[in-house]
Amino acid sequence: MGYTDDEAGGKTATAGQMLAEKLCVNKKNCWDGVSSEDVEKIRCFAADYTAFLDRGKTEREFTAAAVEVLTEAGFRDIEEVLSESGPLVPGTKVYQNNRGKSLVFAVIGRQSPEEGVNIVGAHVDSPRIDLKTNPLYEEAEFALLDTQYYGGIKNYQWTAIPLALHGVAIREDGTRVEIRIGEDEGDPVFTITDLLPHLSREQMQKKVSEAVPGEDLNVLAGSRPFRDDKAKDKVKLNILNLLHEQYGIVEQDFAGAELELVPAFKARDLGFDRSMIGAYGHDDKSCAYAALRAILDLAGSETPPPKTVVCLFTDKEETGSAGNTGAQSRLFENFIAYLLSKGNTTYSELLLRRALSRSAMFSADVNPAFDPNFDSVYDRKTASYFGKGIVLSKYTGSGGKVGGSDANAEFCGKVQAVLNRNKIQWQYGDLGKVDKGGGGTIAKYVANLGVEVLDCGIPVLSMHSPFEVISKIDLYTTYRGYAAFLRDMY
Ligand code: MN
Ligand code: MN
Repeated sequence: MGYTDDEAGGKTATAGQMLAEKLCVNKKNCWDGVSSEDVEKIRCFAADYTAFLDRGKTEREFTAAAVEVLTEAGFRDIEEVLSESGPLVPGTKVYQNNRGKSLVFAVIGRQSPEEGVNIVGAHVDSPRIDLKTNPLYEEAEFALLDTQYYGGIKNYQWTAIPLALHGVAIREDGTRVEIRIGEDEGDPVFTITDLLPHLSREQMQKKVSEAVPGEDLNVLAGSRPFRDDKAKDKVKLNILNLLHEQYGIVEQDFAGAELELVPAFKARDLGFDRSMIGAYGHDDKSCAYAALRAILDLAGSETPPPKTVVCLFTDKEETGSAGNTGAQSRLFENFIAYLLSKGNTTYSELLLRRALSRSAMFSADVNPAFDPNFDSVYDRKTASYFGKGIVLSKYTGSGGKVGGSDANAEFCGKVQAVLNRNKIQWQYGDLGKVDKGGGGTIAKYVANLGVEVLDCGIPVLSMHSPFEVISKIDLYTTYRGYAAFLRDMY
């Protein structure tokens, strides 16, 4: 779809035009020549994605929604699979839910996992604003919530928009309470106020990075006092009373809670032509969803895939992938070890290391799409563009490629061949001009295990903002690319 080998000049092409067609890069817009049947498939896929995204705005919610879908498709918990005797049977569908915040799932292939597995790994956390451990206070008869932002945000973008509060708190008796306020039609929302232009003369002189300090991202949460003549901080007290009535929590329960503020708006079609989707959390839930659907397709086919296909959803990518739910944890290795050891009395550490070194991975993450409003920071020759397909980023990092992952040439060659053979259009996606900044993904942590890894994903505009934008056709092309990679990578 959207991939044609048509000659540039038709019958009248000159020798030079034909030579250019043969030798030069010419990435077409995938919408060109797409059949009406494919347009409908793209529309449906995008609609499924936006509905899923609205259910899963946080790493916990996205993981829970994925487990639900996987269970419906016949995937079983790894503990259940391991409790059965005998070796792993091709076609077995298995998942491991790690603390409700990261997830790994697989369809066992016709070859043993010892021969290596094909993996797509994405992260399911997104930049947001977390509540501090003792957040609630009263000032000028407002109840406010003190916060600490999570991941790389531009603070000013998060003021004066409706915010929803998502997360969990644990009560003193150990019971867990889930909180989700601001998503349903009748729910209240929250906001971080901004200064009116009339009094902003001083603020407007500041650097953008200093105009809204992180410590000043305080959330407006109430203004009505508890009725009592003697009590102090009555607006705060009233909020605590409401929280206690509704959720059974007291102020101290905030200390260990994980409460996250995310934009309260839903994912929407964008543009007159509805060719795009605007939403919170495309980074990286668009890639995670594409990977989920690719695995579900393979799980649904009658013959198991040649190799074992694995999907990894990690948490904490936006803060460096550390901790027992991040990509630096042992989750993925342990999962492969479980698969290798099942029914195998000669399992050894070496077997695991060898399987990992024979494995191939797409580190699935979004890429900054070329934005004509900010063209000076992009290198037009290596930038990714809307409508031009799945993005391959050979390397990440910043400056002298520092801190990134750099895929091996031989592996890049194989990946490009697999995509070309499946007529899936791919495009470049370096991270902007050399000295303009940079970044990384989970790629390097999995590459450290010996796995061949290539960064690969969807172009996005306004990345890390409350309202990111992607193209529907890139989402669909990427899903097809992940499926081809999982099935055909050798
Ligand atoms: Mn990302
Ligand atoms: Mn990110």
